[in-house]
This record gives sequence, C-alpha cells and structure tokens, in this order.
Amino acid sequence: QESKLRQVQKMEAVGQLTGGIAHDFNNMLAVVLGGLELAKRQVEADPAAAQRHIDNATEGANRAAALTRQLLAFSREEALRSEPIEPVALVLGMSDLLDRTLGDTIEVDVHAPEDDSWLVRSDQHQLENAVLNLAVNARDAMEGRGKLTITTVGVTLAEGAVGTCQAGDYVALSVADTGCGMSPDLLERVFEPFFTTKPAGKGTGLGLSQVFAFVRQADGEVRLKSVVGEGTTVTLYLPRYVADAPATDEKAASAAPASF
Ligand code: ADP
Repeated sequence: QESKLRQVQKMEAVGQLTGGIAHDFNNMLAVVLGGLELAKRQVEADPAAAQRHIDNATEGANRAAALTRQLLAFSREEALRSEPIEPVALVLGMSDLLDRTLGDTIEVDVHAPEDDSWLVRSDQHQLENAVLNLAVNARDAMEGRGKLTITTVGVTLAEGAVGTCQAGDYVALSVADTGCGMSPDLLERVFEPFFTTKPAGKGTGLGLSQVFAFVRQADGEVRLKSVVGEGTTVTLYLPRYVADAPATDEKAASAAPASF
C-alpha cells in the first residue's frame, strides 16, 4: 500500500515535470547563459561588472544543481539504509551546516531530555537531508528572523495513535519555527510534489514530499502543526532501534555486527 502511494506520487511528479520543473530549469539556464554572455562582452571594458555577471551565472547554476539533486533524491530507487543512529548527535553534527543555512539572525536551539538514549533505525544521509529540508523551510517562513528549535524525545505509541505507525517505541524529532505558519488549506497541500508557494527558482515543492516519502519508507510518520502568524512544527516519528539481544555463546558474539 505504501509503495503504491509512492508510485502514485511519482506518477504525479512525472506528470507535472514538463510543466513545472522544465520551466524553472529553463529560467535558471537563462540566468546562467545571460550572465556569461554579458560577462563576455564586458570582460575587457569593465572587469568588475563582468565579475558580477559571472557571480550571477554561478548562482543560477547552483540553483539548477540543487534542483537536479532534489529530483534525483526524489526518484531514487535504492533501498534505504537501516542503521542505528543517535538522533541528538546527528542534529548536533549538523550545527555548522544549520548555522550557515539559517544565518546570524535566526537562533538555533537543540533540545533533548538528558536521559534520552534511544537510537533510531534510519538512513543517516536521508535523515540529515530531511532535517536540512525542514530547516530551509523554517528559514524561509521566518524571513530571516526568529527561532528554530529542534527537539528529540522518545515516545511509546499505541496502535493508531499516529497515522500509520504500529504500536511501539519511536523517537519524535521535531523542527519548530516561529515563522508565518500555514492555513488549514495550505496544510492540506504541502505534501504534494511540486506544490510550492515560493517564487520560481526558489522553491521546487519537492522538500516536504521527499521528507514524507523517506519517513514513510522508514516505517515512520510525519505530523504538521501550524498556526498562521505563530509558526510551524514538523514532527518526524522514527522507529526506535533496538539491538538484538546480546549473544551468549562465543560463535554468535563474533558473528554479531561490530557497528556498536
Ligand atoms: P518548497 O520549500 O520548495 O516550496 P516544500 O515541499 O518543502 O517545497 O514546501 C511546500 C510549501 O509548504 C512551501 O512552499 C510553503 O508554502 C509551505 N511550507 C513548508 N514548510 C513551511 C514552514 N515551516 N512554514 C510555513 N510554510 C511552510
């Protein structure tokens, strides 16, 4: 059922590709080509102006590269890795990246209960990507000013408590911002591939649908809470990693994976 959902999402994505993405991509290429053309003309008469045109071209190329990266991540067929990850360590490991992404005027706070030692079963690269996607959305919603709070906490869910999650232990990783928030109408649409309210070239509308696909594939859930004018909290419920029972005889002990 889940793979069907992903299939439907992909089909929709492909259907909208020609209209939306090709158009955005073309705009970015126009910026690159235009910038290079102007730079070529001015390189002798006005090197400083030429440099500015080259910088513009580089920015356009970087946007196009980011777009194709997102498209590739979205259509990836490889299986997710399923490895034990310490969620707090993962977020702290992203501190530099988050600071650079959010800028000086947005405060970043990471919270975790002191006794929180639960690991999650996930794919490190994909999880980092998801957190980064959420942080970029938070930044855009805060327009340069506000507070981003990332919290991880272990929760035990009953069957049916959170969407498709089975009963069991999860780590709830939430990314909260003090940004513009979303109306109920908007909230209903944000997981659609290519749905964006951002100007062409800035938003692809793939961020949240990618996060959604990744978390569902990892047997987790995504929950959104948002109040217009106050902010948004996105919570990822990820299954807790529980190590196999410790091996008792020597043979089993030496055959156990040495990852921890
Ligand atoms: P993109 O960021 O490229 O637009 P997403 O799928 O990540 O694509 O987000 C879709 C839309 O959801 C955004 O354009 C924005 O309108 C809304 N959105 C996402 N995250 C937030 C947030 N934290 N606060 C307010 N609006 C948000």
